[in-house]
Amino acid sequence: MTRQTTELAPGVFDVDVVPVALERLAPLLSPERVARMRAYAAAGNELLGGRTVWCVNSTARGGGVAEMLHTLVAYAAGTGVDIRWLVLGGDPEFFAVTKRLHNRLHGVAGDAGPLDAGARATYDATLARHRDEVAARVRAGDIVLLHDPQTAGLVECLRERGALVVWRCHIGLDERNAHTSEGWAFLRPMLEPAAAFIFSRTQFAPEWVGRDRLWIIPPSLDPFSQKNVDLSAHDVDDLVHRDGLVVEGGPLPREGRAVLQVSRWDRLKDMAGVQAAFAEHLGELPADVHLVLAGPEADGVADDPEAAEVLGECRRQWASLPAPARDRIHLVSVPMDDLDHNARTVNALQRWATIVVQKSLAEGFGLTVTEPMWKSRPVVASAVGGIRDQVEHGVSGLLLDDPHDGAKLVEALAWLLADPGRCAEMGRQAHLRVQDRYLADRHLIQYVDLFAQLIAKGDA
Ligand code: UDP
Repeated sequence: MTRQTTELAPGVFDVDVVPVALERLAPLLSPERVARMRAYAAAGNELLGGRTVWCVNSTARGGGVAEMLHTLVAYAAGTGVDIRWLVLGGDPEFFAVTKRLHNRLHGVAGDAGPLDAGARATYDATLARHRDEVAARVRAGDIVLLHDPQTAGLVECLRERGALVVWRCHIGLDERNAHTSEGWAFLRPMLEPAAAFIFSRTQFAPEWVGRDRLWIIPPSLDPFSQKNVDLSAHDVDDLVHRDGLVVEGGPLPREGRAVLQVSRWDRLKDMAGVQAAFAEHLGELPADVHLVLAGPEADGVADDPEAAEVLGECRRQWASLPAPARDRIHLVSVPMDDLDHNARTVNALQRWATIVVQKSLAEGFGLTVTEPMWKSRPVVASAVGGIRDQVEHGVSGLLLDDPHDGAKLVEALAWLLADPGRCAEMGRQAHLRVQDRYLADRHLIQYVDLFAQLIAKGDA
C-alpha cells in the first residue's frame, strides 16, 4: 500500500510508493491471463529502460482517482518500473475553478461561475507555482500521466521539457451540451500539445482529440486492498456498528436489511435524490429495509470544495422528513484521518448491504459500482457514463434509464428485495464481470501498449 506523503516544495507532494507484487493477482486469473500479465510486465520494463513514469493528480485521498492510483502505482512499482506519484495542492479559488470544470464536463453548470479570463488567471496562478517544481524533476524521455482538469496546465511545460505527456480524464458526458462545450473550450488550448489522451469511454472524448491520440482505458480495482479484501462477518459487524459513524438517524440496524449508496458528497451523485425517493415511496418497500447514505467526512477531500454544502443539504433534508422515514434513513460520515480504516469501513458497509445503489446523474466510471459488484452485491444504478459499461442490465445489476426517476429506483429495489435468489444470482454475475474486465492486469497491459506507441512515436 502507498501511504506517506512528503512535501517536496510548497504544495507539491510526493506520495510514497510501496511496491506490491503483481503476482498476488495470479490466483484470481486463468493460466492464460497470468502468462499474458507476466509477459507484459517484462515487456513494459524492457520498453521503459531508464525512463521514469510520473503520475500527477490533485489529491492522495478521497475519490476514484486517488483510489485507483494507490493500487495501480504500487503494482507498477512491483514489476520494477520506476514510477512516482506527485500530488499538487491548490488554494480554494483554484479548486473552485477546477470543480466548475468538473461539473461542466459532466454537463451541468455547477456553481454557475464563469470560465472566463479571470477564471483562467486563477487557474494559472496555482499552476504557475508548481510548473518549475514539477518540470525540474522530470527528465527528457520520461512519461508523465496527468490526471483530470487540475493538471491540464502542465502539459505544455512538460512537453517542452522533452517528456512524453499523456492527459487522462476520468470524467465526461456521453452527450454534448453548452456546459461541456464551455468546459472543453477552457481546457483545449492547454491540452493540445499532449501526446495522447485517455478517457474511460469513447463518448467522453471531445471531437478535436484525433483517434490516433485517443486511448480508452477504464479504471480497475484491487481485490487485495483494504477497500476490497475479504472481511470476516465479525469484522463487518464491528466496523458497521462502531460508534460515531452516523451523523443523522439512529444507529445502523442490527436486524433487517440495508440499501446503501457510498459517494463523495457531490450533487452529481444525487444522495439527496436517493433519500427523497426512499422517503416518498417508503410504503412500497418491506418494513425491515433501511437506507444508508455514506460519504467521506465533509472536509476530508482536498479538491472537493462543495462537499460540506452538499452534506449540509442532505442533513437538512433528512431533518424535514416525516418520522417513519427518519427512523429508516441513516446518513453516515466516514472518518478520513486513517485511510486504511476509512477503506475498511466502506468495505464493511458494502458487504453488509443487501443492495447497493448508485443513482448518479453523471458518472465517469464509478468505482462505487465496481466495488460492491466485486463483493457479489446486486447494484441498482443509473444508466449513465461508465456505469453503462460495468452493469449489463438484468444480468449483473439493474440500470435505471432515467437517473431522475425515484419511483423507478424504488420499484427496482422492491423487485430485488422480494427475491433473495435473484439478488444472489445477480451478485454472482456482478463479481464475474469485475473479474473479467476490471482488474489491474488488464489495466497495466493497456498502459504498456500505450507506452510502446508513445515511445515509438517519440523516437521516430
Ligand atoms: N470512497 C471512500 N470513502 C467514502 C466515500 C467514497 O473511500 O466515504 C471511495 C469509494 O469507495 C470509491 C471512490 O471513493 O473508491 C469514489 O470513486 P468513484 O469512481 O465512484 O467516483 P469519484 O468520487 O471519483 O467521482
